[in-house]
Amino acid sequence: KLAGRACYRIYSPAESLRSQHQQRLSEALLASLKVARDEFSVVYQSQYDLSDGSMVGMEALLRWQHPLYGSVSPEEFVPLAEQRGQIHELTECLVDCIIQDMHLLAAGKGQGRRLSINISARQIVDGRLEKLLEPFFEKVRQIGWNPEIEITETHLMNLSRRCLDKLRDYGCKGVTLAIDDFGTGYSSLAYLHALPVNVLKIDRQFVQRIGSSGRDTRIVSAILAIAEALDLEVVAEGIETEAQMRMLQELKCHRGQGYLMARPSPLEQMHLD
Ligand code: C2E
Ligand code: MG
Ligand code: MG
Ligand code: MG
Repeated sequence: KLAGRACYRIYSPAESLRSQHQQRLSEALLASLKVARDEFSVVYQSQYDLSDGSMVGMEALLRWQHPLYGSVSPEEFVPLAEQRGQIHELTECLVDCIIQDMHLLAAGKGQGRRLSINISARQIVDGRLEKLLEPFFEKVRQIGWNPEIEITETHLMNLSRRCLDKLRDYGCKGVTLAIDDFGTGYSSLAYLHALPVNVLKIDRQFVQRIGSSGRDTRIVSAILAIAEALDLEVVAEGIETEAQMRMLQELKCHRGQGYLMARPSPLEQMHLD
């Protein structure tokens, strides 16, 4: 009835089970964010300079291990947190986890390396975000690293002027801004130019077909050309094979990240020379 008159829907038991599961998961997430923060942890995936192979930064990725539901993917729990208005709590949890890990980072070389976190575009309007991120920025700088924020392209394109001004403020404070999953949204060139961003992260769907699909190879080289014109840095994500890596090096892509070089892992298992 909600869908209007003169149409029908087929009842699907699988779909109903799925939504029941989502509902339970969503309740569990609320509870865990309130009283079981130790179920959350952070893994880090290194990024490399593709011209010389040096490690130039890392991306922090949140993990949730629930006693009943096991390991739940951020692809599943981040949207739930957004729906339930708990996305700030999630970011707070992320920042706490990172700060707890900071002494391990401090032991390795830092100077100029970047530590990035993922932020939901919806959080930006809210003044609370700045307060939440302040300790992250501060601690990262203390150990000689630079903070970076990633926002997915699809969401970035819908931001209001006010949000863009907020982003610009972060930029002015020396925070690097990256567009995540670039190529999957609908950026217009004019808009891209107006955005206060420094980095484009090419979505892994293009990276994974580079070399084997002429179309995807051309898309990647077009992205690199746009980036050059707008003076942006490019990070290719999801590099899994030597062939993809070689192709990206030939195209002069600046940086890369992917299972080929490093899987996301807890800091204590990483070599931070
Ligand atoms: P993303 O920011 O695009 O992160 C990259 C995702 O690709 C990560 O999945 C990473 O584990 C995976 N990945 C990295 N290299 C490879 C590769 O070579 N091959 C393949 N197949 N995958 C690779 P993950 O950790 O499951 O995160 C999924 C998404 O969840 C992230 O996408 C990000 O948008 C979001 N996310 C993760 N942590 C947070 C967080 O703390 N806050 C928010 N708001 N979102 C987060
Ligand atoms: Mg990301
Ligand atoms: Mg991405
Ligand atoms: Mg993503």
